[in-house]
Formats: sequence, C-alpha cells, structure tokens
Amino acid sequence: MPNSEKILIVEDESTILRVLGTILTANGYQVITAENGHQALTMASSHCPDLILLDLGLPGIDGLEVIEKLRQWSGIPILVVSARDQEDEKVRAFDLGADDYITKPFGTSELLARIRAARRHANQLAAERAMVSSSYEYKDFKIDFERRTVTVSGKEIHLTQNEYKIVERLARQPGRVLTYTTLLHDIWGPYKGDDNQILRVNMANIRRKIELNPAEPHYILTENGVGYRMADGE
Ligand code: CA
Repeated sequence: MPNSEKILIVEDESTILRVLGTILTANGYQVITAENGHQALTMASSHCPDLILLDLGLPGIDGLEVIEKLRQWSGIPILVVSARDQEDEKVRAFDLGADDYITKPFGTSELLARIRAARRHANQLAAERAMVSSSYEYKDFKIDFERRTVTVSGKEIHLTQNEYKIVERLARQPGRVLTYTTLLHDIWGPYKGDDNQILRVNMANIRRKIELNPAEPHYILTENGVGYRMADGE
C-alpha cells in the first residue's frame, strides 16, 4: 500500500458514496463514510481522519455548517465537493475554513490530485507553524520575506506597499485559495467592506509587473468569483 491515510467521505447520495469509496480504497486510502452532517461530525471526532471529502448539499446540518462546527476544534483538511454554479457557497466554504473544492463532475485523477494537494498544504501549514519560512519561490518568481523583495528572473520588481502585502499574503500559503473578502480584510482592515474593485485594480497592477503575459497569469491564479491562489510548484 502506497499510504494508509484515512479519508472521511461525507455524501448523502449512496451511489456517489459507493463510487468514491471504491476509488479511494483502490488507491490505498482507508475510507470511512457518513451520510449526513451529524454523522460527519461524530465520525470526525471519533476517527480523526487525515482528510474530509465533504459534499455541501446534505440533509439536516448542511455542509457549510459542518465546516463551521469542525473548525471550532479541528484543522483536518476539508476538500469540498460542490455542484457547478455554486460560487456563493464555495466562497462561504472557504471563509469558514475549507481547504479546497472540486466541482462535479470530476475524474479520478483530478480527485486524487486534489486530495494529495490538500494533504500537502496541511503538512506545509504544520511546518510553517513550527518554522516560518523566509522565502517563496516558484519557477523564476521569488519573494524574500525578510528583505521584502520580489524578483522575477533575478530582476527586482518594484511593488507598492499594498501590492507587496497582497503578494506576500498569498505566497505565505501557496496553493491555497484566499477569497476576496479575506484579502480585503487582511490588507485593508475590517472596515473595507466587500467591494472587490480596489483588489482587482491592485491585482491588475501586480500582474502587469510580474507576469510575462498578464492575461495568462502563471504565478497568481484567479479562481473565478472566489478569489486568488499563488502557484505552489506542484
Ligand atoms: Ca448531496
């Protein structure tokens, strides 16, 4: 067995639950399952899974509430399974502490990749808590957090203070989606409200400075309607 990580699948449709369980078991994961929110919370606390694959549309306690309750005591990585065109729910899921999402329908390889990525991010976070890293590097793009410098192919890029703050905030958690609300709150403070315009303007300027082609960004990626994520050198 390549690994024996334990995954809790939370899904109320038994057919989907069975298919997901079969796929994950075949790929060496231990699988435990829950068919509603109550069960999910009980299983999470009694079995301490390494990751939770969580369908948002559940009877009773819905997926968002499960995330909210879990995050009161646990940092278990949560990979949300959402239907198409549920952007509001995705945003709320991230704000409540979900780690990533995957949109139905998805293929096996995408699912496995997302699970590996979510596990890796969780490990990175744990490592970061133990030792805050001093730099971020992805291909030709580099940030030195101590000197507060950004370079592309060795050439220093001049960012404004807010531009730098945005880039640093994203690079501190590479691969992780940060929502517009989170970024607005963290850069401009709690009273900025939900107007994304100022963030979009700053992002456009950042991309003009760091990306070879700002229309096809490689370093800071857009999650449409949700937020941004920094590439994580997978
Ligand atoms: Ca469902």
